[in-house]
Amino acid sequence: MNWSSLRSHADQIEMLRRSIRRGRLAHTYLFAGPAGVGKSLFARILSRCLLCERVTDEDLDACGECSSCRQMEAGSHPDFFYVGCPEGKGEIPVALFLGEREKRGQEGLIHDLALRPMIASRRVAIIDDANQMNEEGANAMLKTLEEPPADSLLILIAENLDAILPTIRSRCQLLRFGGLSEKNVAELLVQHELASTSEEAIAAASMSDGSLQTAQQLLNPELRTLREQLYKYLAAADLDPMAAAKAMTAGVESLSGNTQEQRQNAGWLIRFAQEFYRQATLVLSGAPPAFVPREVEVFCNRRAKHESAGLELTMALFDLAVMAENRVSWNINPLRTLEALFDDLSITGRNVPSA
Ligand SMILES: [Zn+2]
Repeated sequence: MNWSSLRSHADQIEMLRRSIRRGRLAHTYLFAGPAGVGKSLFARILSRCLLCERVTDEDLDACGECSSCRQMEAGSHPDFFYVGCPEGKGEIPVALFLGEREKRGQEGLIHDLALRPMIASRRVAIIDDANQMNEEGANAMLKTLEEPPADSLLILIAENLDAILPTIRSRCQLLRFGGLSEKNVAELLVQHELASTSEEAIAAASMSDGSLQTAQQLLNPELRTLREQLYKYLAAADLDPMAAAKAMTAGVESLSGNTQEQRQNAGWLIRFAQEFYRQATLVLSGAPPAFVPREVEVFCNRRAKHESAGLELTMALFDLAVMAENRVSWNINPLRTLEALFDDLSITGRNVPSA
């Protein structure tokens, strides 16, 4: 695990290297950016470099051989601490910062970080999912952030800056992370065997907004089956809005009983519809994307007979899907929006004879 394991973020690496060369490394950083773009991996690599016994300020690369590097690899470095939101929990338990109730102040991250380094020249801690610090946890951390112990470095990681208390934000140096390129996401999906074919990887990457995590969600087999079903409705000569809405609602409900997840999946279906018409628009305008699903081809073959009218109509359908996605972003119920989208697509779709 070193900088070459990262697919992106060369600017952020360079910025940190410059800070170190000038002796201006901050005590607290806040890494902010979308989920699944490598913030956490970046923080771990940085921690490893900062703890390595042979690292130089010039290159900031861990040697991979010293005892510090070996202990980082084994997950047993006494000067490295990691706190994150436990699986299934909605927030980071305050005990991880302060210690369990009967041992308050004698254990936990705040206590550990204040001790002198055991083997390295500093202590490094990562607070992942910093969005999920509750008020008590955030308040407990404030003093540490305000007066960081000497020889310590703290990295907070968050997807959503708005969810971080301003008092915390203002005490950290912000480092923003953007999304990965589609090509990188597709390659990572294949490399980590998350997608079985490169076509599948490219298709998921194209909708992932540069997030490996989103791409992974998109490859969920049940969601894919539902997408294929949706594509069949969209490819039909005459879209039946009632049947499509009924099938998609049933599909979303069978995928999850959780209302939040149902809304998320309905949102994905709207996004898939948008992707369908986006690809069709590209095909009809003579610039097909790398991978074209069969249903999109079927749709395009029918529309191609109308030449420019077919292209214009497809663009109008694409616009409807974009508008539907906007409504979802304004917090309008995604399932109702999807139903309305099928109605709109059916009405607009009739404007050109289906030949
Ligand atoms: Zn080393």
